[in-house]
Amino acid sequence: MRCPYCGSLDTQVKDSRPTEDSSAIRRRRVCPDCGGRFTTFERVQLRDLVVVKKSGRRVVFEREKLMRSLSIALRKRPVDPERVERMVNGVVRQLESEGESEIPSSRIGELVMQGLKTLDDVAYVRFASVYRDFREARDFHALIDELATDDDEPPKGRPQKAPGKA
Ligand SMILES: [Zn+2]
Repeated sequence: MRCPYCGSLDTQVKDSRPTEDSSAIRRRRVCPDCGGRFTTFERVQLRDLVVVKKSGRRVVFEREKLMRSLSIALRKRPVDPERVERMVNGVVRQLESEGESEIPSSRIGELVMQGLKTLDDVAYVRFASVYRDFREARDFHALIDELATDDDEPPKGRPQKAPGKA
């Protein structure tokens, strides 16, 4: 496994254990070249999923890309990485179980937004604002209203300002 910090191929596994729900093996790795530490997850992949973008272009679904956009949405938010991992597992299982091998990107976006909503309101709004490509403040306020009227749980946080807005 290539070191994400220095690119060295000589990384070592320090610790290996199943995640809480046993759906994956979590490995802590260290790079002897730069001392960088990182974690990898090994999991079952039932089949390849193809994402159909808004442009009509088809690309193979890459979990890592989804994780990257989630890590941006979740930046500095107090959310356990294992909960994110479980949420993404749920999304992928859902997609796999829907029986379609070609999935519109909008479907993935909706599932991820549903999942994020249960994890962290701020991350949800950040993700949604990018995903839904908000151009107008009223879209943003509509989303905040949607959160505020959730009955099951009080909101865990409020964004200070609309992302992407000056
Ligand atoms: Zn390294």
